[in-house]
Amino acid sequence: MCTKRRCGVLIVDSDVVRVECQLRAGELACPSCQVSLAPWGHGRPREVRGDLGARLFVRPRRSRCSGCGVTHMLLPEAIWPRRADAARVIGSGLEIAALGLGHRQVAAHLGRAEGTVRGWIRRFRGQSEDVRRYFTVALVALADDPVMPDPSEGPLSDAVSAIAAAHRAAAMKWASMNTVSRWEFAGRAIDGRVLTCMPSAS
Ligand SMILES: [Zn+2]
Repeated sequence: MCTKRRCGVLIVDSDVVRVECQLRAGELACPSCQVSLAPWGHGRPREVRGDLGARLFVRPRRSRCSGCGVTHMLLPEAIWPRRADAARVIGSGLEIAALGLGHRQVAAHLGRAEGTVRGWIRRFRGQSEDVRRYFTVALVALADDPVMPDPSEGPLSDAVSAIAAAHRAAAMKWASMNTVSRWEFAGRAIDGRVLTCMPSAS
């Protein structure tokens, strides 16, 4: 288990200009202590694989909390920490796995290495109950008349369904959420920890 918040990552809007304005205006809060984050240089540039052969080039902004002094990397919602593939690519793989396909079939469908895809599925399955519970609570909070997804093939499928249901409820509540994929929404909700240990459910 990783220690809570040691990673120092905050998932933010994919609009770089908007994030820069928010950062300079003190509108981004430290996830640990809620004090404003201030600009603190940049992280190393990185390249992330999107779908259909697309490449995303990202130079993440770094920030520092003026309260607790912890630095936080600001990652756009299109990517998750320590992943070479975009959130929606990994998410698509998890959705295919939720249909009951094995990692080899998912890897063939996405054009990714089998070992990579096996890792995604294993990690997600390992915390699928935490994910399901988190997004079920989010669904209840977001929807006026929440409709719970039916139990499905197993824990992995149930977790995928819970994310989809919470995203639908968020899109009903906020029109801007319609342009954000369910996996970007999920990453933003839990600091990109869709495949790593979830924030504690406090
Ligand atoms: Zn802080």
